[in-house]
Amino acid sequence: MTAVRSTQGSSGDVPALEVEDLKMHFGPVRAVDGFSLTLPQGQLTALVGESGSGKTTVGRCVVRLLEPTSGSVKVGGVDMTHLSRRQVRHHDARVSMVFQDPAGSLNPRMLVGDIIAEPLRMGRERLSASRRSARVTAELGRVGLGAEVAYRYAHELSGGQRQRVSIARALISSPSLLIADEPTSALDVSVQASVLNLLADLQRDIGFACLFITHDLSAVEYLADEVAVMYLGQIVEMRPREQIFAAPAHPYTQALLAAAPVADPAVQKRRDPVILGDDLPSPSDPPSGCRFHTRCPLAFDLCTTQIPELRTVPGGVAACHLVQPDGTGSELLGGSERRHI
Ligand code: SF4
Repeated sequence: MTAVRSTQGSSGDVPALEVEDLKMHFGPVRAVDGFSLTLPQGQLTALVGESGSGKTTVGRCVVRLLEPTSGSVKVGGVDMTHLSRRQVRHHDARVSMVFQDPAGSLNPRMLVGDIIAEPLRMGRERLSASRRSARVTAELGRVGLGAEVAYRYAHELSGGQRQRVSIARALISSPSLLIADEPTSALDVSVQASVLNLLADLQRDIGFACLFITHDLSAVEYLADEVAVMYLGQIVEMRPREQIFAAPAHPYTQALLAAAPVADPAVQKRRDPVILGDDLPSPSDPPSGCRFHTRCPLAFDLCTTQIPELRTVPGGVAACHLVQPDGTGSELLGGSERRHI
């Protein structure tokens, strides 16, 4: 499969993350099936798609919570695929993860200070207890929490505070790469914006690269430098945020954007509703040819037999037989029917 290379960032840098032809199969279920992506240092790439598209599985493979079936994952130029978990933890180009549910990812029997300090104890750096404590206090301050929070348990905190603790724990080891998996979707709507703002500020100030896994397109529009759209285990479009929101090239991206609520009613009106129709097909038996053909209003005969390659479009790539080099050719016209199959 063609590697999906970002056009952002300076070309001389070793990328923060390079994923090449990643596959993660659970028996017959091909959750991730030929996924490639390059994330430059300091960039935030959003990975979007419906539930079941495989985006969370990609994140878990990168941090080695899952052992990939095949493919390679390089962090800071170092191939992590063949390292032991212990070696991964000691690797300088560290990668951290923030999970969807802070309540489930924080040990209820540990004090918050010990939770945040845990990566320091597991890492290569040897610090005295007082230095560790100072680092924890500094990290709490950076995520907007007082030093006294270190002496509390996670269940004594609000959901928003718990996610701030998760972020502090993820950042204390100064990772070059953060995987943020739906970091606000388990939170009350009222605190989601403040946690997103915090992530945006930290990412800009510290400069770590971030793979932001989400189905929240308004957060993507606010945060992302680049957007990668996943469908049934593969990337179907990847382009800079402005271009993908202004003129999405792939019919699936167009449908996702059309379905997303937007604050401005005028914009919503311009985004004609395109109904995706049937549920996502089973990843254990993906459709032949273009995997999106069973739901695509523009599908034609070729789509059922021939897999569309990723084609170059302005700013990035898209995988659709109809897409032209200028990114046009596959616009969905408000649910118009062009099906011949
Ligand atoms: Fe639709 Fe065919 Fe393009 Fe796939 S290749 S997105 S089925 S038009």
